Amino acid sequence: MQELQCDVVVIGAGPAGLSVGSELSKYLRVVVVDQKDHASKCTKSWFVPGIVTKGNKDIEPFLTPGVKRFITNTYEGPFKAWDAKLKYGYKFVKEHGLLDHFAGVLEGNSKAKGPGKGSKLMLGYTYQSHVVLSDGVKVRLLKSSTDTETMVRARLLVDASGSESLIAQECGVHEQCYWWSVYGWIMDHPKGTGDMKVGDYLLWGTFGDSNPDLKATLAAGRPVMEYEILDEHTSFPMVLYLRKQKMPLASMKNEFEHIMKHEDLSNPFKGAAVKERKWGWYPSAGISQGIAKDRIAFIGDAGYWSTPCGWGMGFILTNYRKYARRLAAAVKDDKLDRATLASFCKMAIHEKNEMVVDQVAAHFLSHATPDQIDRFIAFWDTPGMNFKYCEKVFTLTVQEEEILHLARCLFSRFKFSELKEIFPREDTAIVRRAVALYVQAFIWDKLSFLGHSLVHGVASRLGFKVPKPIPEDQEFENGFDFADYEDLLDVSTQGDGGART
Ligand SMILES: Cc1cc2nc3c(=O)[nH]c(=O)nc-3n(C[C@H](O)[C@H](O)[C@H](O)COP(=O)(O)OP(=O)(O)OC[C@H]3O[C@@H](n4cnc5c(N)ncnc54)[C@H](O)[C@@H]3O)c2cc1C
Repeated sequence: MQELQCDVVVIGAGPAGLSVGSELSKYLRVVVVDQKDHASKCTKSWFVPGIVTKGNKDIEPFLTPGVKRFITNTYEGPFKAWDAKLKYGYKFVKEHGLLDHFAGVLEGNSKAKGPGKGSKLMLGYTYQSHVVLSDGVKVRLLKSSTDTETMVRARLLVDASGSESLIAQECGVHEQCYWWSVYGWIMDHPKGTGDMKVGDYLLWGTFGDSNPDLKATLAAGRPVMEYEILDEHTSFPMVLYLRKQKMPLASMKNEFEHIMKHEDLSNPFKGAAVKERKWGWYPSAGISQGIAKDRIAFIGDAGYWSTPCGWGMGFILTNYRKYARRLAAAVKDDKLDRATLASFCKMAIHEKNEMVVDQVAAHFLSHATPDQIDRFIAFWDTPGMNFKYCEKVFTLTVQEEEILHLARCLFSRFKFSELKEIFPREDTAIVRRAVALYVQAFIWDKLSFLGHSLVHGVASRLGFKVPKPIPEDQEFENGFDFADYEDLLDVSTQGDGGART
C-alpha cells in the first residue's frame, strides 16, 4: 500500500475543502482528497450577498453582477417584484472557475519553496476510513480507477466532504437542523431568456397540480420553484424542499421533470436546452457552534457551516482565510484537541440574535400552509414593512431595533395561536436555544452604555463574550468570531512544513 505523510489531510475538494486547503498550503504541507476526477466539477451553483466577496481579489474575477430583482409568484397568492435592496447586492459565483482557481493556488504552493512544498490534490480517491492516534491520524483512501489503497498520515484530518459526510456519521457528529433539498438544470436559451431579465431571481414560486394536497407544507414535501437568470442565454430553474429529512434525489428529479413539462411556471423555459444538472442538500435552521473531535475539524456543510437560511457558500467565503490561518497556528502548536478546534467556530454574539430571526423564518417557511406563506410574502409589502426587511432577515443583517419592529408587525398580522401552531412541539428546543442567544445578546447590548472595556472585563470574569459594536454599513457577516485569536492569525510561512507523525 502506498503511504503518504503531510501536516493536514482534507477530505473533499468542494468550495470548503479547496478554499481552506489552498489557504493552509501557504503554511503547511496539505493533501486535499476528492472522489471526483476534476477540481472544477460541482453540482451546485452559488449566489452570495456582495458584502461576502467585497475586496477579496481572489474571488472577484469569478463573480457576475448577480441578482438585480426578486420575484414571488404563487399559485393562489401575491405576485410581487422588487429591486434587490441591499447595498452590495448579490453576486453569482462562477463555480467551476473558482474551484479551479483554488486548485491552482494549492498547486502553486506545492511547487514553491515554502512550507507548503509537496502539498497535493488527489482526485479520483475516495475516503474509506480513519484512525485517530495520540500524535496524528491515519486515513485510508481508495483510488477508484485502479482499485488500489493509499494510506495518508497527518497531524490533522479536516472533513470537508459535504452534507453526506461519512466521517461525520462515523464520529456521530450532528447538529439539529432542517435540510434544503434542491434539484434543477442550468439551461441554455439560444434565442435569449425572453421576459426573464438577467439578474431576475424567482424567490417563491408555487403551483397547484404537482401535489394533490393543496394545504401541504414544505415540511410535508411540497416544493417551491425558484429560478435565477445568470446571463442573456442562461437560466437556472430548480425545485426546493425544506424538511427535516433530505428529499431523495430520484423524487426531486421526477418532480422537477414533471414541473418542467406540465406547470405554467415552466413556460419560459420551453425550447431551452439542458446544459448541466444541479442538485444537493444543505443544512438550514441550525446554529453551528463548532463541532470537532480530537484531531478532526469539520468544515463547510460537513461542519454545518451554514446560516439558518442556508447561505453555505457565503459562510465559506466569509471565513475560509481566517479559519485556515487559525488552523495552521493550531497545527504548528500541535493543539488539536476537540475543545480547541471547536472554539474557532464561535459566532460573534451580535450575529446570533440575527440568526434567531432567520431561524424562526426558516421554521415558518417549512411548516406554514400555502395560504400562510402567501400572507407571509404579502406581509413584507404592508404599511410599516418593506422588502428590505425580508432581505435583511434572510441575509442576517437585521439589527436589534428592526427585530423588535418585525416582531410587532408579525404579531399584528398573525395570531399568536397560529404562530404557536406552526412550530412543531419537538422544535421548541431549537427555538428556546435561539431565544436564549437573543436574550444574551440583548442584555450585553443594553449594558453597552457602561463602556465596552468595563462590560468586557466583567463579562470575561463571568466566562461570557461581549459583542463588538456593529459597523454602520454592515450588511452581512456570517463570520466566526476570531477576535480572541488576532495574534495567532499571522502564521509564519517559514514554518517547518514537515509532518511529525
Ligand atoms: C443546488 C444548490 C444550490 C445552492 N445555492 C447556494 C447559493 O446560492 N448560495 C449559497 O451560499 N449556498 C448555496 N448552496 C449551498 C452550498 O452549495 C453548500 O453550502 C456548499 O457547497 C458546501 O460546500 P462544501 O465544500 O462543504 O461541500 P460540497 O460542495 O458538497 O463538497 C464536498 C466535496 O466532498 C467530496 N466527497 C464527498 N464524499 C467523499 C468521499 N467519501 N471521498 C472523497 N471525496 C468525497 C465531494 O465529491 C465534493 O466535491 C447550494 C446548494 C445546492 C445543492
